[in-house]
Amino acid sequence: MPEQHQHIGRCLCGAVELRLSGLPISITYCHCESCRRATGGPVTVLVGYELAQVAYPAEEPRHFQSSPGIDRPFCRHCGSRIGYTDARLAGRIYFHVGVLDHPERFAPTCHALEAERLSWLHIDDTLPRFDGFSVSRD
Ligand SMILES: [Zn+2]
Ligand SMILES: [Zn+2]
Repeated sequence: MPEQHQHIGRCLCGAVELRLSGLPISITYCHCESCRRATGGPVTVLVGYELAQVAYPAEEPRHFQSSPGIDRPFCRHCGSRIGYTDARLAGRIYFHVGVLDHPERFAPTCHALEAERLSWLHIDDTLPRFDGFSVSRD
């Protein structure tokens, strides 16, 4: 597999490390209130992978269920948010782009939950914008 298709990442303290194989299945801005509260930032970018592409060579993240079926893994030492899973999107995990070592390589391709975007947050692009989810749930 070409080297550029192996990605690594870590939490702020480094206790949780990521090894990601292959290309992501999606890269999406998420403007939802839950991501805002979880991360403390005005918007997040979620990088989606199949669970089979993901390994944790050091510690596994802890888990926090933020609403039924929604899990938000985090580092138990430093509190960094790692990402997000949705039981309706089984077998996938979505990482916050900031935990990856080269976030500049993960340019988003759309905006999800645009209806919840902060009115003062203006991102000047021509990407598709979805008022709700960008990927339909079962
Ligand atoms: Zn940590
Ligand atoms: Zn969100």
